[in-house]
Amino acid sequence: MSQLIARFITSNTDFKTCPPARFPEFAFIGRSNVGKSSLINSLTFHKGLAKTSQTPGKTQLINHFMIDEKWYLVDLPGYGFAKVSKEKRREFEKMIFDYLIHRENLTCLFVLIDIRLKPQAVDIEFMSRMVEHEIPFHIVFTKADKLSQKQVNESVDVYKKFLLDMWDELPEIFITSAEKHVGREEILANIAELIQT
Ligand code: GDP
Repeated sequence: MSQLIARFITSNTDFKTCPPARFPEFAFIGRSNVGKSSLINSLTFHKGLAKTSQTPGKTQLINHFMIDEKWYLVDLPGYGFAKVSKEKRREFEKMIFDYLIHRENLTCLFVLIDIRLKPQAVDIEFMSRMVEHEIPFHIVFTKADKLSQKQVNESVDVYKKFLLDMWDELPEIFITSAEKHVGREEILANIAELIQT
């Protein structure tokens, strides 16, 4: 497992001012506190690349990182937090959806889900909108170290069943623990494969 060469490029509130779309791009999103910053830091092996444990909803920007001079990693704001006003929430939603819909080099979005939770409306609604807009996405279950292997399997099975009641096929699924660096190699291999195709 080697450290990736990662450098911060810019933070934006508008997709139009994001860096030139010259590289394939992989974005990460999920409810605040899902473990997104921890996963990004685990993927890149940089402890402080994405800011962890912030006030929920504080990362309200589209953050671009250049990885190995080959691809962009994008840290998107968390969704579904309750502590902000409706108006602010609508503003974030618009920013996120404008980015997801219009960003031409977005190769794949990784949607993070806390493995301990039953399917939550906010995540299901978000992913349904991705399907509707044909935005390619994978599911990344986080914090797998908090459950036993048996519980992990059960939780993933419940989720898959739920999704198959709505959709004909499942997105690709990754099971991760940022704490134990589980799932890191699988995600990086997937990205490497998508870059080549
Ligand atoms: P974010 O708001 O989605 O960026 O979430 P953070 O990465 O800041 O993580 C939220 C909390 O969950 C922090 O207290 C982390 O230490 C914890 N956490 C994140 N990932 C893991 C994990 O894989 N295992 C465990 N046990 N805790 C985690």
